[in-house]
Amino acid sequence: MLCLGVESTAHTFGCSIVDSTGKVLSDERDLYKAPEGSGIHPREASRHHMEVSTGLFRQSLQSAGVSMKDVGIVGYSAGPGLGPCLRVGAVVARTVAGFNKKPLVPVNHALGHLELGAMLTGASDPLVLLVSGGHTMILAFSHGRWRVFGETLDITAGQLLDQFGRALGFASPCGGRIEQLAVQSAGKYLQLPYIVKGNDVSFSGLLTAAIRLASGRAQVADTCYSLQETAFAMLAEAVERALSFTGKKEMMIVGGVAANKRLAQMLEAACSRQGAKLFVCPLKFAGDNGAQIAWTAIQEYQTTKKHVKMEKSFVQQSWRLDTVDVSWR
Ligand code: AMP
Ligand code: MG
Repeated sequence: MLCLGVESTAHTFGCSIVDSTGKVLSDERDLYKAPEGSGIHPREASRHHMEVSTGLFRQSLQSAGVSMKDVGIVGYSAGPGLGPCLRVGAVVARTVAGFNKKPLVPVNHALGHLELGAMLTGASDPLVLLVSGGHTMILAFSHGRWRVFGETLDITAGQLLDQFGRALGFASPCGGRIEQLAVQSAGKYLQLPYIVKGNDVSFSGLLTAAIRLASGRAQVADTCYSLQETAFAMLAEAVERALSFTGKKEMMIVGGVAANKRLAQMLEAACSRQGAKLFVCPLKFAGDNGAQIAWTAIQEYQTTKKHVKMEKSFVQQSWRLDTVDVSWR
């Protein structure tokens, strides 16, 4: 069976065709680019998604060499995310599914990151660090759901990097540029607040302090280096404690921030101390994409046949992953 997956929670509009073995036949995406120094504007991003949606939908079929007749189900990212952006994806998915009389499957976006990551890396029962623009969570699967073993108390790791970068006038998303600047630093660590509470992390004080440090401009590379060292050490500490507590022998990192090599290096060290193997989601699929939605929708539909009537299709801006039943694990 083939599934068309539609992703539109934030910056990315994506359409992808995936088959029931997990083969990604096409993965078309386009990113809304905010003006330099500003963040995502939900209305502008949704306008972008509207503009690119038809072309990307067509292209996803064409690249896969299929037509809608060959597609069995349509999955869409129903949340969590930005309302105006989510609604574009939902309308596209609902229209395509309704017109072609295909079952419509709503998917939790965070679950999409985890399921595609697990399929691509081959991790079977990992502790997961989900680090993206919308999430910073440590998760492990237990009794039918992904359970939270630590999370951010305020902003996410992606927001920390993006808000810091934007304060310096960088174009968002800024994680890649901050990583490049950090590499240019001679490794001079500037003191920054390190806040881990229980097994949760807090980044907002770190953000304020880092912006203050970098405002002199003279030490931008050292601040980027110190910001990464501090934030990633906080995450690595919480991950290591969760590994020790759960006894998991696999650790997987997914989400856009998983692209960062220094974070992977720190987690590798934590994993080797705990006798766990680290799986890093391939760079191409670390960020948001339609394939994560298509692959999750296929698994959901094949095990439960769960889908929604067109008039009952929904979007949910806040939708925690630990409220979602997962019956195929
Ligand atoms: P997502 O929400 O999963 O699409 O991830 C987007 C987030 O990943 C943004 O906050 C980016 O700044 C961040 N990101 C992308 N590349 C990197 C990188 N190399 N290092 C750190 N963060 C990154
Ligand atoms: Mg995401």
